[in-house]
Amino acid sequence: MFSTTLAGHRPLRERLLARFQAGRIRGSLLFTGPEGIGKRRVALELAQREICFRRSACGQCEGCRLFDAGELPFELPNLLRVTPEGKAGVIRIDQIREGLDSTGQPRFSRGVIEWASLAPPPRCHRWILVEEAHRLNESSGNILLKTLEEPPAETHFILVTHRPEALLQTLRSRCERIPFSPLAEPEAWEVASRHGWADADRGRWSALGEGSLRFLEEEAFRRAEAQLEAWLALLEGASFPAVAGPLLPEKEATQAQSEQLRQPLELLLRLLADLARIQAGAPPALAPWMDRLAPLAAVGRDFRSGQEAALEALRHLPRNLSAEPLLREVALALRAG
Ligand SMILES: [Zn+2]
Repeated sequence: MFSTTLAGHRPLRERLLARFQAGRIRGSLLFTGPEGIGKRRVALELAQREICFRRSACGQCEGCRLFDAGELPFELPNLLRVTPEGKAGVIRIDQIREGLDSTGQPRFSRGVIEWASLAPPPRCHRWILVEEAHRLNESSGNILLKTLEEPPAETHFILVTHRPEALLQTLRSRCERIPFSPLAEPEAWEVASRHGWADADRGRWSALGEGSLRFLEEEAFRRAEAQLEAWLALLEGASFPAVAGPLLPEKEATQAQSEQLRQPLELLLRLLADLARIQAGAPPALAPWMDRLAPLAAVGRDFRSGQEAALEALRHLPRNLSAEPLLREVALALRAG
């Protein structure tokens, strides 16, 4: 049976497994779909099955226990994880080639090329999981491409990303794309309630998460909620300094400042899309905030300039501009509507 800790994606998982058992998975896979819906977990499950004493990802045996550790190791007997590192959040060429960390010291895992040349455990394949694959830069992506084009026998690459458009085109075209859909609301909520979420939060948690587990941690959810409410306040006419706090990046966060802006800007786009939806007589996706959305939609404002400003700001994020002026600009455009 499948691991009970993995919610959703059952038809897709069964299809992948059947193909894999029939030897019909060749080369590399690219898992795409929204953030936080369990793409990585599905990839891990394929590797876990082979290490499982029951060959089933039972979740109970000693083999499965390796995969259930709170902090999953970078190297398991049949699995190598490649993840972004450092504040810039990039997968660097050293990680692919030699497995060195950003200071040039040997890391706790080997590089992809060395690791892929090792013999896998009996009856196992080698799985190389590239998490957040859009974080490969050009040089690390190109090095990976070489290995991926001619993988050693019994080796599977799985690249996971919620931003496939940011992945090198050459890599994208070498992989078979497996698109994932968001979880159904009851599937996502089942995980949330196991994590201690109370029924009173269900409406808002589900609306913000859109079938993902991105906001499983309360802090992440509260932050997104505060960001949404800051945009609402700005649309209602509040002044930028008074309400923009939650939109600004956290100085101590591990993520680069510009990357922290992605979430509030995406939330704004969802909010503006909802306002347009209400104006067109359709129900909003952010229904729990309807009492604040409805009056904003009713005044007949045009939200296109705000939308364009938010899209423009998102396009500029990789250039690492400073956060506050960028957000001020968007807030100004909202007023202009
Ligand atoms: Zn097991």
